[in-house]
Amino acid sequence: MPQCRWCGKRGFFLRVHENGLCCECNTIIVLDVRERTRCIEESMKHIERSKNMATRLSRCDVALTHLEALLQYEEKEIPTIDPVPSSLISELEKEREDIVIEGTELKVEKRLARAKAAATTKGKVGSADKALQAIGEARIELRDARSLDLLENQVRTFIYERTLDSYLESGSKAEFKGQRAKALDSYQEALFLIQTSDIDDGSRVSSLGMVLTLQPSSRRCSRTAPQKISEGVRPLVR
Ligand SMILES: [Zn+2]
Repeated sequence: MPQCRWCGKRGFFLRVHENGLCCECNTIIVLDVRERTRCIEESMKHIERSKNMATRLSRCDVALTHLEALLQYEEKEIPTIDPVPSSLISELEKEREDIVIEGTELKVEKRLARAKAAATTKGKVGSADKALQAIGEARIELRDARSLDLLENQVRTFIYERTLDSYLESGSKAEFKGQRAKALDSYQEALFLIQTSDIDDGSRVSSLGMVLTLQPSSRRCSRTAPQKISEGVRPLVR
């Protein structure tokens, strides 16, 4: 018995179109498919041509919304577009992920360049923090964000190194000026950073040889302070 694939109407005398639809549904669905196909094609052009990440992403979302609507027809075996909506959805979702990753890499690259050019540690770390923020925002957009791990590690290493340099320089300067308490404080900050950071930094541990140059002879530095630092240094150079 002829039956409409969309509304489910059936009957011996029901006229069913070659799309498997009754006349009423066929008229509506053919127009709907045509209009959605036009919107999808237009969005695809923008995705291919635009260099703006936000534009490309919003166009992906527009196309995906129309494809999801067409998918309902596909699931009822009603002809729609070629390639079929389910196939285009997979392709477009992959494309969307690539756009997010590509756009984030560009943003991070710019912010890191700004961070490297900054005159002060605060400026460098501030710009690098914004790069981390961009990575965090991208992670929310992605289903699989593992491809950003390496990039995030690069930014975190940059922040770590600049901060450590700042502590070591500050310690060295204070030591030169004979400000032992201040120097010790800076070196302790450096040690704390190394010990609490996830960054693998075996090569930088030698920098802390400077700590050992501080002798516990100062009136302001009691014997316990340098000993504590030495105890802190020892396990790191193993
Ligand atoms: Zn129908």
